[in-house]
Amino acid sequence: MTKHILISGASVAGPALAWWLHHHGFRTTVVERAPSLREGGYKVDIRGVAVDVVRRMGLLEKVHAASTGMRGAAFVNKRGKQVATLDADTFGFRHGDDTEILRGDLARVLYDATRANTEYVFGDWITGLDQQADGVEVTFAHGAPRRFDLVAGADGLHSGVRALAFGPEEDHLRRFDAYISISTVPNGFELDRWELLHSAAPGKMVNVYSTARAADAKAAFWFTAPELTYDRRDVDGQKDLVADRFAGLGWEIPALLEAMRAAGDFYFDPVCQIVMDRWSTGRVTLLGDAGYCPSPASGQGTSLALAGAYVLAGELASDFAKALPRYEAVMRPYAEKNQALAKTALRGIIPQSRAFAWFNTRMIRLMPYLPGRNRVLERMSRPIREAANALVLPDYAGRAARRSTSEG
Ligand SMILES: Cc1cc2nc3c(=O)[nH]c(=O)nc-3n(C[C@H](O)[C@H](O)[C@H](O)COP(=O)(O)OP(=O)(O)OC[C@H]3O[C@@H](n4cnc5c(N)ncnc54)[C@H](O)[C@@H]3O)c2cc1C
Repeated sequence: MTKHILISGASVAGPALAWWLHHHGFRTTVVERAPSLREGGYKVDIRGVAVDVVRRMGLLEKVHAASTGMRGAAFVNKRGKQVATLDADTFGFRHGDDTEILRGDLARVLYDATRANTEYVFGDWITGLDQQADGVEVTFAHGAPRRFDLVAGADGLHSGVRALAFGPEEDHLRRFDAYISISTVPNGFELDRWELLHSAAPGKMVNVYSTARAADAKAAFWFTAPELTYDRRDVDGQKDLVADRFAGLGWEIPALLEAMRAAGDFYFDPVCQIVMDRWSTGRVTLLGDAGYCPSPASGQGTSLALAGAYVLAGELASDFAKALPRYEAVMRPYAEKNQALAKTALRGIIPQSRAFAWFNTRMIRLMPYLPGRNRVLERMSRPIREAANALVLPDYAGRAARRSTSEG
């Protein structure tokens, strides 16, 4: 009988897993807590082997067509003067077919590619997992209980599946004493596929960008702080917290804070990683941010989610009984290498001293005139390029074909 797999979360990892599971002949249901597909969001990167995963799905053209189309980025001083600029691909450490897309646009491409052969249930979530020898009995907040052969948690940093199967989030969190908030704001700077960055004070960074086809802009506030206590459901309280941190600072920060307060969407979270001894227990497994979130600072969460979906589905198709340890054996070195990028990257994103911020900006400004410029750029982008390619994608297509031949 066709195995039926339940996936929690319909963003990147969830629909990508549904696509590959269908490709290998499984039946899939995706349950998403939000009432509908979560569109929009911030820009994310697809790099290295993840580009290959998208290419193998036949979706690379669609993803490129929906890309942010960013032209570049400029560092501005407190008077708004652009003191250094970079083209978008250099700024984003992208090579070849690597691309940048809004998270919600990627989710839309993946959802559209899977909706015809995947059962999507929006506005519901898993409340209980009862593992038995031959399946998992699942209870939902709204829907009737159902039985599945396997449950995959693709429900992000604050995964409900992880909490149910592996215990409290806190046990798996690696913190960096940094926070990020992001909101949609009016495009007051009239940015055209352009990004502005302002190092507002030591430990405080603001960036604003507007992408292709977007009438508005995104404003992100990054800051370092020891662990903060706040109510995760109290959005106004979190907006106060961000506003307090950036109060009295120059450039257009007061106007951006005002726009953040009025924004319909608001994201606020610590910059952190999920680090786990194992990603699976019995018939429950995790992928994407739920299992190995590398943090926004790494710029590699989306790529890990896409590659994880490919490997997990491929291993399930190859040998269902042995798949979960194999999935982990293939993915873990790649996930860890990408997680290792975050700490250093964060130091560059949020300069901790005026001297460092000054040096950073001067380096970028002088870059075009530096002898051996290409070598310097190559050295700077090497860690992320190596991490993004630190996985050889197994060729599961052949194995799946053999499996269906022998079953047929
Ligand atoms: C501000 C910011 C900037 C980022 N920048 C980059 C970047 O530049 N490059 C990059 O590669 N990555 C970036 N990332 C990370 C990237 O967004 C994630 O790594 C990627 O989206 C992971 O995909 P995912 O599907 O695993 O999880 P998510 O995208 O987090 O999706 C989880 C889904 O599960 C749903 N959900 C949550 N709880 C439940 C539940 N209990 N039941 C059912 N559904 C649930 C959510 O609504 C959501 O749809 C950034 C992230 C943030 C927050």
